[in-house]
Amino acid sequence: MESLHTALERYYGYSTFLPYQEEIINNILEKRDVLAVIATGGGKSLCYQIPPLVTGGLTVVISPLISLMKDQVDSLVTQGVPAVTLNSSLPYDAVVRTLADLEAGRLRLLYVSPEKVVQTRFLTTLRKLNVTLFAVDEAHCISEWGHDFRPEYRQLRILKEMFPDVPMIALTATAVPEVQQDIQRQLNLINPAIYIGSFNRKNLQYTVTDKKGAYPQLLDYLRSNPSRSGIIYFSSKKRTEEVAQKLQEDGIRVQPYHADLPGNFRNRVQELFIRDEIDVVCATNAFGMGIDKPDVRFVIHYDMPRNLEAYAQETGRAGRDGEESDCILFYSRGDRQRCLRFIEGDCLNHPEPGYHSLAVRKLNDMIAFCETTRCRRQHLLRYFGETFTEVPCRACDVCMLPDEFIDGREIAAKIVNCISQLPGKFGITHIAGVLAGSRSKNVLARGHQDLSVFNSGSEYSNEQWRSFMRQLIANGYLDQSSDQYPVVTLNERSRAILSGDEGVRLSRPNGLQARNRGKTDRSE
Ligand code: ADP
Ligand code: ZN
Repeated sequence: MESLHTALERYYGYSTFLPYQEEIINNILEKRDVLAVIATGGGKSLCYQIPPLVTGGLTVVISPLISLMKDQVDSLVTQGVPAVTLNSSLPYDAVVRTLADLEAGRLRLLYVSPEKVVQTRFLTTLRKLNVTLFAVDEAHCISEWGHDFRPEYRQLRILKEMFPDVPMIALTATAVPEVQQDIQRQLNLINPAIYIGSFNRKNLQYTVTDKKGAYPQLLDYLRSNPSRSGIIYFSSKKRTEEVAQKLQEDGIRVQPYHADLPGNFRNRVQELFIRDEIDVVCATNAFGMGIDKPDVRFVIHYDMPRNLEAYAQETGRAGRDGEESDCILFYSRGDRQRCLRFIEGDCLNHPEPGYHSLAVRKLNDMIAFCETTRCRRQHLLRYFGETFTEVPCRACDVCMLPDEFIDGREIAAKIVNCISQLPGKFGITHIAGVLAGSRSKNVLARGHQDLSVFNSGSEYSNEQWRSFMRQLIANGYLDQSSDQYPVVTLNERSRAILSGDEGVRLSRPNGLQARNRGKTDRSE
């Protein structure tokens, strides 16, 4: 048996595996089922392509889009991998030839649609072949909790029933824990090895911006990023065409794309985009799956998507080559109503109990992401069950706050902590003095220089701490009595600051140096 590394070199020209690839392949070779949830660009395809190359068996790949399968097969064949796709658009003699090749064991990869693979006749054919692995791509499509439910995926459970000894790998780029469990259950995976990769896409910069004046903002962005490739997502087909036309008039090389445009037009737009003959595509979410363009430099959401899965998947199309890319979302409060209407419409096709409330919950999560005053990357990753602590991430709009504002969580937490440690109630000046480590008469007289919180805020001046406290009081994070000598006390919201549940935005007091702004001069 050829070694994994030899196959990796010979067919792909790579010398090392990406994270998880080798372990996943070894599990497959030991006939264990696998669930792989790994971000776009993480190298999932290799995991099911290499096993048959080293064993001489056959991987049956189930993939939802015919165009996607065709592209994959074409590029595999150029790499010298015997791969083929079977679909209804194939002429009869090609089908006959392919079947003969399959029976003779000359092929390593067979790509089919989910509808095709479960046909009785096809299953009978499969029984005669040396199938060594089933690979279910875009496996989240099996779950109605996911963002792209495809009923035909449900029938795939028959594969494990008919071929219990053939291992199966389920792959997807985005699946929240609920969907992961659904995939395992629906496909009948047996004690699968589970690989959940990090979703953190370090090279993507996330920005949410006010939708007011979206078009001028958009045009401004496109003009200051000339000849860079990007996708602009819309929720309405009509808008893709309207905005594309306006942009064309404004000199941008752009085309629209949505499901109602003729097939040959859509293919042409894809090709123009991939060949860099246009820079921008104004699209609905119909555009993107299977577009393997590595240098998409920006994804703009002109309308807010309905959930974070869709957002993650669509923004995930930017920067597959690892270079810095922008993800910009235009947000307005009105987006909620629009999305709710869509969800109502959707419910007609989804009578399942709980569908509506789940969709609304996901929508609320999406809105929370737009409205958060905390790191967007952390928010997004937490949604997918991942802990991310490198905040500020230096690549989201919140972590790179504009000059007037700073992220006030740490500052507020220090103030709250100081107040709770002080024996007794004190006013702003005294608290600021303790934080800034001032050995003033009042502080020394009470022995507060010996408290652990003394000088715990040495990074800011006395005056700056006073300014922060005034802002917190104004915003209801602290209470101040109305006596002659007002004292500051904690309330519910101050405690929420300590638990980290509350985002705090503070304006930058005079004389404060900008912090966390490492990425402002992004080199082109
Ligand atoms: P996914 O299906 O997870 O989106 P792909 O399988 O399309 O990812 O792989 C993404 C890119 O990474 C492809 O260009 C692929 O050739 C490349 N790649 C895969 N494995 C390796 C590897 N071991 N070393 C370097 N590049 C790799
Ligand atoms: Zn951030």
